[in-house]
Amino acid sequence: MREVLSIHIGQAGVQLGTNIWELYCIEHGLDAAGHVSTFTGAGENFNKQSSPDRTPRMTLDHGDVRESSAASHDAPGPIGSDAGSFFTESKNGVYTPRALFVDLEPAVVDEVRNGKFKNLFPSNRLISDAEDAANNYARGYHTCGQRVISRVMNAVKAMAEASERLQGFMMFHSFGGGTGSGFHSLFCEEIDSQFNKSSTLEIAVFPSPALSTAVVEPYNAVLATNATLGLRECVFLADNEAMYDICQKSLDIDRPTYRNLNRLLAQTVSSVTASLRFKGSLNADFSDFQTNLVPFPRIHYPILSYAPISSKTASTHESLSITEMTSVAFEPTNRMVRCDTDGGKYISCCLLYRGDVAPKDVNQAIAHVKTKKQVQFVAWSPTGFKVGINQQPPTTFPNADIAITDKAVCMIANNTAIKDAWANLNTKYNLMLEKKAFFHWYTSEGMPEHEFYDAQENVLMLEEEYEDMLSPAFC
Ligand code: GDP
Repeated sequence: MREVLSIHIGQAGVQLGTNIWELYCIEHGLDAAGHVSTFTGAGENFNKQSSPDRTPRMTLDHGDVRESSAASHDAPGPIGSDAGSFFTESKNGVYTPRALFVDLEPAVVDEVRNGKFKNLFPSNRLISDAEDAANNYARGYHTCGQRVISRVMNAVKAMAEASERLQGFMMFHSFGGGTGSGFHSLFCEEIDSQFNKSSTLEIAVFPSPALSTAVVEPYNAVLATNATLGLRECVFLADNEAMYDICQKSLDIDRPTYRNLNRLLAQTVSSVTASLRFKGSLNADFSDFQTNLVPFPRIHYPILSYAPISSKTASTHESLSITEMTSVAFEPTNRMVRCDTDGGKYISCCLLYRGDVAPKDVNQAIAHVKTKKQVQFVAWSPTGFKVGINQQPPTTFPNADIAITDKAVCMIANNTAIKDAWANLNTKYNLMLEKKAFFHWYTSEGMPEHEFYDAQENVLMLEEEYEDMLSPAFC
């Protein structure tokens, strides 16, 4: 067992977190207080102890998935065989998430404290303070954040000490919020210095291209990127506008709320972590994601996609073949970031399947995808695909918007098209910075002026680095 600690920061991180843990509990057959339930709904597959773990370990060698001899034959425990990586179990059989929720103001964390899962999370894992970051990176980093950082680090250290072999951290936050940008950056620096470059994976809500909940979102996002570019290893991106479209077009939700978006993203995150929570998958280790997805340290912003996504009232996808399902994952409609991947090239691509999926069908699906005009790889990454298969089928929330199927695939793709998202962000940042608009809100919190310009240069360079991946000189 190798433990993973989940850290949920700011409103987006915390709200997304509650949805993610709700789904994990269902999948591992736990009730809202962390007891093994007699639940017979969506998560019933996870209570079965009889079926041995049949999941083969998969490798992909030059486009061919092979079954290795390392297939595990451990029978799953009552809540799934590797649940201990994400939950601690007490002597009396209560499971507690290895998770920490942090916000600089109390309202969002209070909802967790008083909500449906109030008995799931211990009170010392729910940290909030009195003063909001007010959409301001500088408050999250330089002032308000400084007041809570030691409490947060103490809680993290206690969680780490309760782990036998800490595998790494998963962090959840937005780039645009004051806490999600500023406090998160401060936290990353502390993690980096105190945990000796421990592995991290991040799920981040990237600012949407057109919609924005705060004028200064581009400032926050660029400043946070600048602060963490050298510290983070792999950041999976989703943006609310893309998820909003999916909810409207594929899930028939007229006016999606954060809850709808969070449930969709939680469904995807659950597939990302399935291989870490249930034995038998290829991707049993964090480093597999990084090694396969990140060709150069700074090029570490892959895009998430999920398939199938359809509403319960729409036709069922039970009959989708693996090839069809995989093709759908490559469609722009299923992508969680708005960018034109048809105009970009894939650098690397991780396909994580769930359910009863045969390696030969995956081989066929990949061969088919490779024939598509829109699926172009950069010349210097000829193999490109990393595959994982976890036999635990997907499940979903009670009264979910999404129709649940016996199989699903989550795609994590490092694609040069993400440069458009950076370009869009840089343009907005530069327009404001040129006039020093809203500047004083940051400098008055103690942020040095040069940080604005350092960030501008650094993130512009990132945009160019993605562009360079395509240049003939590079190839
Ligand atoms: P913070 O608490 O100061 O970090 O601020 P937020 O997390 O509210 O950050 C603002 C950004 O996060 C905006 O882009 C919001 O649209 C987005 N956001 C806020 N709450 C949620 C949420 O629950 N889910 C999602 N997907 N995005 C959110």
